[in-house]
Amino acid sequence: MSSSREATSDGWLPGDHCDRDWIWDREVETESPAASRARAEVAWEEQRRHLAEGSAFYRRKLGEAGVGSTGVALADLDRLPFTTKDELKRAIDEEPPFGSNLSVAPERVKRVYQTSGSTGVPSVLALTAEDVRTWTAIGTRTYYATGIHDHHSVLSTFAAGPFVAGHTHFVLSRIGARSVPVAPGDTDRVLFGLRAGLADTLLGTPSFAQYLANRLEQEAGDTRGLALAHVVTGGEPGGGIPAVRDHIQDVLGVTVNEVMGIGDVAPSLFGECPAQQGMHFCGTGYLWPELVDPDSRAPIAIEAGAVGELAYTSLVREAMPVVRFLSADIVRIEGSACGCGRTSFRMRCIGRRDDMFIVRGVNVYPTAILAIVGEFRPQVTGRARVIRRADAVSVDPPVPVEVEVPDGAEFESGLAARIEAAVRARLIFRCRVELVRESSFGDSGYKTRLTVSRQ
Ligand SMILES: [Zn+2]
Repeated sequence: MSSSREATSDGWLPGDHCDRDWIWDREVETESPAASRARAEVAWEEQRRHLAEGSAFYRRKLGEAGVGSTGVALADLDRLPFTTKDELKRAIDEEPPFGSNLSVAPERVKRVYQTSGSTGVPSVLALTAEDVRTWTAIGTRTYYATGIHDHHSVLSTFAAGPFVAGHTHFVLSRIGARSVPVAPGDTDRVLFGLRAGLADTLLGTPSFAQYLANRLEQEAGDTRGLALAHVVTGGEPGGGIPAVRDHIQDVLGVTVNEVMGIGDVAPSLFGECPAQQGMHFCGTGYLWPELVDPDSRAPIAIEAGAVGELAYTSLVREAMPVVRFLSADIVRIEGSACGCGRTSFRMRCIGRRDDMFIVRGVNVYPTAILAIVGEFRPQVTGRARVIRRADAVSVDPPVPVEVEVPDGAEFESGLAARIEAAVRARLIFRCRVELVRESSFGDSGYKTRLTVSRQ
């Protein structure tokens, strides 16, 4: 009886924590794709009724598209129009504060997050009590998949609010882990916590983990004595880029896994298991994912090797459901079957649609440049960004790239030329590298913009 509260070993294979199925959600996470689809079809029937009754926004949108939401089965989802971030923003502006997509009575809204709003004006996300539980359940699958269990101590640098990343704190509580919250980017407090042995696991952005690794590397030998064994990265791509991951793992002596979510849909939606072969989809039964061509919007089968943009349809959302919401996240599908027992697909995020640029007709994501730049450590920090002219999607070679180098440290005179040659050899286009000292690179080191527009 009491065995379910005893600490497990660090083992993570299904048999090692079979008494924790209530956290692991084993039945759903190991079911066949056909069973997952059947589960989604049942949930969609209820959700589409809810949309038709509750959402003025979708009643109008689906009506205008000539496909009233009634009668459209999950199999026919591609008859429904996509939803964009801009449309959701306009729906809020029409009837503030919650907008015309609020599908429940306002008094049922029990939690409100804000989004940063790319145009500078914050927007809101409303959740009912049940929506809060849903997000926590999806997040629990996500973080449990990374190997965070109830006997772990987790130092989280994800802020408590106002952004959705704060939901992670509910998730850690549900898993039963020890939680040690620290404000984003508060390096001194992170180092204090780690040196004091308060945590064996760190949650943060890959930029921050990389920064921390660089700093400890400079203070040579200082990682000894840290209890840290596990770093889980999220909030931006990077934890899955080999040059970034290997550096963090080697310097800190840890295992790196990454997670990913999306504000309007679920803040923690993909979690990478210890097999480190990409992030598992953890929204089975709650969300229906699709992969589409980022340009033509044509559907793409979710199978190993496929590259496309993820779109999501909510299956159980009460307050602000979405239909075929275009995420702008471009991913590569890595496969599905996995040694951990999970059957959902695995993927890596290549980048945001907005970060993509075109060089001589070829689509390029800045993460490809990061993967090369990272190999020049320790002469570089690992951070880099592409400079574009305002709103220009096409960039003529040589592509301007700024590469961050540590303050004070020496670097060889041909460093920029060697990076340029490596990019040319691997990505088949010319770039012009400018080395920028850490103190003048800008951005906090907590999150890095991968492309910057300048006139
Ligand atoms: Zn797995």
